[in-house]
Amino acid sequence: MVKIRLSRKRVPNNQAQMELSLYRPQENDRNHHLGGRSFYFFDFDDNVAYLTTPIVIFNKETGAERTLSSGEWARYHSNIGKSGPFSNYTVDYNDETGSFRYFRDQQLSFIDKVVRRKQTFLSDIEKALMQADYSWKAPSWNCFFHATYNKRPTSVITARGHQKETIREGIDLLVRDGHLPHQPNYLSIFPVTNPQVRVSELNDPNLKAGVADLKREAINQSVEEALKLYGNNPHHRFGMSDDDPKNVELITEEMKVLKRKYPQMSFFVIQTFEDSYVKTEVLETKTRNSSKAKIESSLDNNQLALF
Ligand SMILES: [Mg+2]
Repeated sequence: MVKIRLSRKRVPNNQAQMELSLYRPQENDRNHHLGGRSFYFFDFDDNVAYLTTPIVIFNKETGAERTLSSGEWARYHSNIGKSGPFSNYTVDYNDETGSFRYFRDQQLSFIDKVVRRKQTFLSDIEKALMQADYSWKAPSWNCFFHATYNKRPTSVITARGHQKETIREGIDLLVRDGHLPHQPNYLSIFPVTNPQVRVSELNDPNLKAGVADLKREAINQSVEEALKLYGNNPHHRFGMSDDDPKNVELITEEMKVLKRKYPQMSFFVIQTFEDSYVKTEVLETKTRNSSKAKIESSLDNNQLALF
């Protein structure tokens, strides 16, 4: 039996998740008896958690800023500057002043630190934790909890461009408030648009690759790292969850490549939607629908897309 220390929490409602798991024994990986491990790779935004980090677009004539939520971005981004409600706007890729500046770490001055200004990822997580309900928990939250609780090797592969340490500190806030029993057993953290990570780890020296391609490379590297750390065992299982259809498409392509390289291992892609998910097993040249379900409640652990 594993007991969990309940750390301080602001919102009494949030005890529910922890109480459910308080006396639940840890489970072994599915292929534990054969020496295999289950590796969990997670996209973060709108998959593990909903945060309010805004994306900024700019009026073409006046330069005036307009903020979009990640949901609005998903819906409109292919038409920005071309047609629809944002035809007169443009996207700016400058890391410090552009559209995604809140998804990057900012240089904090001495004064910023004195007044305890934080990187936006941290302040956005704190803002989410102040909500008096579970509305920040996104479709893969339960899966993330399960992977953490059972110490599965876990990778966070996010389009954000913060320092890795900032991502880790953000997740530490979820531990601090009792939503996770302890830190995940990290295999890797890839904030794939971080310039340093792109150049030195993801083979993108000219900062030209798109997010989906960068995630693809991050998956490849995470699998290789897994084999280095946990050995080359044919019974390993790998799964990645993401809510963005374009990412899911390229993640699936990368998993096919990996399946050809390691045909005895199992590879899964889980595409999440607001209230459901589709789990697909990736084979060498095709995919096989594995399961599909509605996510009915954030506390319903029977609905998990586990592998
Ligand atoms: Mg996402």
